Amino acid sequence: MTMAERTKCLILGGGPAGFTAAIYASRANLSPILYEGIQPGGQLTTTTIVENFPGFPGGVDANTLMDNMRNQAASFGADIRQGTATAVDFGKRPLEVTIDADHVIEADTVIIATGAEARYLGLPSETKYRGGGVSACATCDGFFYRGRTVAVVGGGDTACEEALYLSSLAKKVYMIVRRDVLRASKAMAAKVMGRENIEILWNCNTQEVLGDGFSVTGARLLRKDGTVFDIEIDGFFLAIGHSPASGLFAPWLDTDAAGYIVTEGKTSRTSVEGVFAAGDVQDPHYRQAVTAAASGCRAARDAEQYLLERN
Ligand code: NDP
Repeated sequence: MTMAERTKCLILGGGPAGFTAAIYASRANLSPILYEGIQPGGQLTTTTIVENFPGFPGGVDANTLMDNMRNQAASFGADIRQGTATAVDFGKRPLEVTIDADHVIEADTVIIATGAEARYLGLPSETKYRGGGVSACATCDGFFYRGRTVAVVGGGDTACEEALYLSSLAKKVYMIVRRDVLRASKAMAAKVMGRENIEILWNCNTQEVLGDGFSVTGARLLRKDGTVFDIEIDGFFLAIGHSPASGLFAPWLDTDAAGYIVTEGKTSRTSVEGVFAAGDVQDPHYRQAVTAAASGCRAARDAEQYLLERN
């Protein structure tokens, strides 16, 4: 174990929320240290072109966008490092975070921007076609399916929202629902059922995503009555929920039933003073790069305000 290092502001997570927090915190002279975590660049790097981030008519490559954010933060002096938080002690002052099990950081403020991960079914064929028609973000990738046929897995509000979004672009949308009811709210369910080009395949589970080696061409489904059948599709969208990367912090902070960190009102303040949360780890709803970036800005401003008030 090396000697502890001290910082005014420690940022955990290298996605849009973390980097935006680092841009604002470094410009406010907080000399932030940012650890990128296991997926440098965050969830966005699992997609290719980002077409809905403002300022990029024609779209921007997801990795380029994240490299730009990283470089922008570094240009203002943010200390950006590789590493993952493996332990925290938010009962101490200063707050204590251990990185990669051997480096202790003592921080006056911590901004948690560790994101969330879309859940997948766990089929090898699904992994094989990720980026070749398998996606967990209709808002990101739906545009590529104009006039084509797609399937959405799930029966919650997200699945309905994604199916509705896709139905305005695609020729036909299947919803693959494992029970005979939708978990979604009545209003969302009614909208989906009223949409002509959405067909719900009830009581169905996906056995395999079918493809030609490069792209998705279909899915093999198993109905509860034992029937196995194939559908022809060009895109396979997962909407079976997200898991926030909050496990390490949950013993210290208030989280909701799904594990999202609870923040106070419109601020990024958590239930522990000096600890702030930004981006998807505290947002089950919007989950966009631009909303994550905006909440990273808020977290840095809140941290700055907290330090000003304390001194
Ligand atoms: P939910 O957990 O609400 O729904 C997940 C859906 O995926 C369920 O239908 C579930 O089926 C299904 N599912 C889970 N695992 C599997 C699996 N292995 N195979 C097949 N199907 C599976 O997640 P959401 O992301 O939809 O929503 C999260 C929260 O965000 C909710 O509280 C929701 O209300 C909210 N939200 C609200 C919106 C709005 O109000 N406009 C928009 C989006 C989200 P089953 O029902 O059988 O468990």
